[in-house]
Amino acid sequence: MNKLLIVGTVAFDEIETPFGKTDKILGGAATYIGLSASHFNIKSAIVSVVGNDFPQEHLDLLNSRNIDTTGIEVVKEGKTFFWSGRYHNDLNSRDTLDTQLNVLADFNPIVPEDFKESDVVMLGNLHPNIQIKVLDQLTAKPKLIVLDTMNFWMNCALDELKEVLKRIDVITINDEEARQLSGEYSLVKAAEVIHTMGPKYVVIKKGEHGALLFADKDVFFAPALPLKEVFDPTGAGDTFAGGFTGYLTQSSNVSFRNMKNAIIYGSNLASFCVEEFGTSRMEKLNDKEVVGRLQQFKMLTQFDIELKQ
Ligand code: AMP
Repeated sequence: MNKLLIVGTVAFDEIETPFGKTDKILGGAATYIGLSASHFNIKSAIVSVVGNDFPQEHLDLLNSRNIDTTGIEVVKEGKTFFWSGRYHNDLNSRDTLDTQLNVLADFNPIVPEDFKESDVVMLGNLHPNIQIKVLDQLTAKPKLIVLDTMNFWMNCALDELKEVLKRIDVITINDEEARQLSGEYSLVKAAEVIHTMGPKYVVIKKGEHGALLFADKDVFFAPALPLKEVFDPTGAGDTFAGGFTGYLTQSSNVSFRNMKNAIIYGSNLASFCVEEFGTSRMEKLNDKEVVGRLQQFKMLTQFDIELKQ
């Protein structure tokens, strides 16, 4: 079975949307990526760190999805990474209210022996130095290295981020972050600038407005499924990344053509994530629902115009 190595935060989140506010709930980039990628026929492992305040039941949940958690270090004297955010009424933008790195501040990632030769590596959102340390431990070149990041790391570790960008194949980033990283407002120009930083493929996520995939000369666009209600967008980007990498790990074909399918799988899974607070919807999601909505995606995007020469 093909292997996907996931690195990223496993966290506590406190989320406020126009529909309500949560207490401290399970969150983190790697959590969402793992839950999403578990819908594919692959082996996956998470490399991360939590504190002694992190309940075993959350690790049990990941294990129940066949995710190897031996690479999640539990620091006895530490507290788990904490993030809190408040969404604006349009649910497209949010303010980060608090980020407490806690155990993440001194984290030294250890890649499980079994995953040092993974087919695909998903460097989820965390400090670029940790992402680099993970790449340094690989004993074989993966077919694909995908990286996700956010403005937080651009603001405090831009040089380190630029270093890791030289070593990856695909970056997934949201539109505002692409503008910040490139200094360009046009997303086409932003993608061009980001290509020169290293990644051959640039995926720009535009929330409810879908996602763009830029390669050298090719561009592909996938809409987001129009939903009646979006409850909580937290983790949608990571869920997208989990679907994108999970699909590419399973199929082993990392051509541009196949990446288009991966974008659809990612968008499909992300459309579920936003339906409930935190990870709730992803915890319940079954494969029948996933396939059903893929059909809706096909109908949404298929058309039959005959082009006359
Ligand atoms: P997304 O909505 O896809 O951007 O992901 C939200 C998740 O990212 C939350 O569950 C947070 O725990 C996690 N997160 C927030 N800020 C950071 C950060 N600076 N580094 C890593 N993960 C973060």
